[in-house]
Amino acid sequence: MSDSSAKFSQALATLRTFSDTGTPRTYEYRIEALTKLDKLISENVDRICDALAADLSKPLQESLLAEVAVVLDEVRLTKKNLRKWIKPDSVSTPLSLWPSKSRIYQDPLGVVLIIGPWNYPFHLLMLPLVGAIAAGNCAMLKPSELTVHTSKLVTELISKYFPPEYVFVAEGGIPETTDLLNLKFDHIFFTGSTAVGKVVMAAAAKNLTPVTLELGGKSPVIVNDDADLDLAARRIVWGKFYNAGQTCVAPDYLYVHKNIAAQLQTKIKQTIEDQFGVNTKDSKSFARIVNSRNFQRLTKLVDKNKVVHGGQSDERSLFIEPTLIGNAQWNDEVMRDEIFGPILPILTFESLQEIYKTINSKPKPLAAYFFSRSKARQEEFLQTLHFGGGCINDLVVHLGNPHLPFGGVGESGTGSYHGKSSFLIFSHAKSVMIRSGWFDFSLRYAPYKEKNIKLLRKYLRI
Ligand code: NAD
Repeated sequence: MSDSSAKFSQALATLRTFSDTGTPRTYEYRIEALTKLDKLISENVDRICDALAADLSKPLQESLLAEVAVVLDEVRLTKKNLRKWIKPDSVSTPLSLWPSKSRIYQDPLGVVLIIGPWNYPFHLLMLPLVGAIAAGNCAMLKPSELTVHTSKLVTELISKYFPPEYVFVAEGGIPETTDLLNLKFDHIFFTGSTAVGKVVMAAAAKNLTPVTLELGGKSPVIVNDDADLDLAARRIVWGKFYNAGQTCVAPDYLYVHKNIAAQLQTKIKQTIEDQFGVNTKDSKSFARIVNSRNFQRLTKLVDKNKVVHGGQSDERSLFIEPTLIGNAQWNDEVMRDEIFGPILPILTFESLQEIYKTINSKPKPLAAYFFSRSKARQEEFLQTLHFGGGCINDLVVHLGNPHLPFGGVGESGTGSYHGKSSFLIFSHAKSVMIRSGWFDFSLRYAPYKEKNIKLLRKYLRI
């Protein structure tokens, strides 16, 4: 047994012992833990943003909004609603089972494992933790090893604000995650790539551990010829180049109607300059690529002959310019896998029905976006295309509404969270019928008599 394996196994045993005491499931403990999580964040906003800047050169505004505020909002919404959410639901009972009360209790799962990625390394670890705490669980967190500063800070802060028998951080890369996946948790919540999602699901299957998989994919943005092109350009540039394109719900590629393709391309180029200046490298609003491996992967995707904007890069500073690839085709290298960087291939179309067929023939994307002024076209997009979630006339912002469950479908994920959905995903719906003995149908018991069967058939009409 490796050192980390023994350490994680011991940590899990400690978590399980505490979970079994029943303390973390009490309403008071959950509320106190959420208050502590609020403090952990509010008292350390600058340190969190500094760690993200050190890991990804993440612009301060992006850290404040998409890493800090989003988690604080979730904590506060959860605290406000928790009493209501944990109240058992009373449901009706068929007449044949009267007198009874039927209730659904939301039961904690026990000890859950949360594995995070590097692109929003604070948000994507803490947001699931809010749900795990709200549902009355103990948790083990595994931050991404690629964002070292955030991983270290999360470890320090969690151990300062929470006891290790309640929340424990297991740092490490693939070998350590493999050790963790060999242990038996009550749920695994994984955010990361589709390829690693398969590894996680296979490992979980050995223990029949349920999983939530928040994965990626190639998410399209489609712009029809009746769209507001200025709005589309502004929002596409924002959604694509936020965090330098390293966002799971960023548009991976642009499908634009051929009648307006040239016009939209010109507007997108202009908008890139408006938002990041002529020299993006000097912009304080543009993040960097997480590491050299991803830098190499991304620069190899750029076909220099097809670049219509950008294309510059600098490995030393892990900078890749916002880059547009014109006349992209499905057999181009850049269209094979999720890009996950500041490169936007542009494909054109003549018929929406044709492209819906094409997109539906590929792995289901995590998100899809559609720009059009026509209500009928919008409805057709919603009714025809399969995807996890998305927006009409905008991008990415569906994530910001905690009342919308967030997750993928098929290859882009299993299960969804945010707000009440987070609470539910970390709970088991325990269905219970509460009965009394004052009335007891004798015909349910053996020996089964002919006359009772007749009565039964009459009652059931069969
Ligand atoms: P990743 O799958 O490489 O890593 C995620 C986590 O898994 C990390 O903690 C890592 O240590 C661990 N891991 C990596 N390889 C492993 C292996 N072989 N065995 C066990 N564990 C392993 O993902 P990433 O590169 O950190 O993140 C990028 C991907 O995540 C993209 O595909 C993106 O779309 C997706 N993503 C999805 C969401 C979502 O909410 N759906 C959010 C962010 C990122």
